[in-house]
Amino acid sequence: MTSACVANLSPIPILMYHQIEQAPPKGAAFRSLYVSPKAFARQMALLSLLGYRGLSMSGLMPYLRGEKNGKVVGITFDDGFLNNLTNAMPVLQRLGFSSTCYIISQRIGQTNAWDGDKGVAQTPLMDAAQLRQWVAGGQEVGAHSRQHVRLTQTDAATAQQEIALCKTELQAITQSAVQHFCYPYGDYRPEHVAMAQAAGFESATTVERGVAGGRTICWNCPVCRFFGPPACRCSG
Ligand SMILES: [Zn+2]
Repeated sequence: MTSACVANLSPIPILMYHQIEQAPPKGAAFRSLYVSPKAFARQMALLSLLGYRGLSMSGLMPYLRGEKNGKVVGITFDDGFLNNLTNAMPVLQRLGFSSTCYIISQRIGQTNAWDGDKGVAQTPLMDAAQLRQWVAGGQEVGAHSRQHVRLTQTDAATAQQEIALCKTELQAITQSAVQHFCYPYGDYRPEHVAMAQAAGFESATTVERGVAGGRTICWNCPVCRFFGPPACRCSG
């Protein structure tokens, strides 16, 4: 649906973070997935100073649909690392910002084992109680599949479960609505879009850097993901 995209011609950035933690030494795998707590605090303070408000995906939807106007930026975290709760949430709360953290429903309280074969250090993920703390702290939980699988490499039945059951499992744990999905590895095919829609998600995002022409995905809003402010897009 393009009308919503057309409705909001101003690009709305959606920031994507993973770990808010001191990066491992130079040469370690995927150092770019880390932002230090100090740098994160600086980035959020700068946004605030520039007059931007950081919002969760649910908070952002009226702006993406063009129903509201204002200086807003989406704040999202992938994978549900415990350091999001301990290092990011206090900063967000201080500034009155909200955010969405995309959680893998069958990995709660475990570690980022799916990254292990790439040499990424194993780090704790939020457990159920910590997810409830996250929500009680004014932040949002989004869905990021059940097992962090590559949807394009699974059969349809498995993909369907990864998308739909993730939502119901997370809702049961958090006792709150889970309305936004993020494709693991940014990988999807058109049928996965249909599955996410059928499961009742309001948006599904990729992990693509950059602007229009990337693998953005939307059915009622212009959503894309990128690193670093502020250069987003509305491709319609
Ligand atoms: Zn992920």
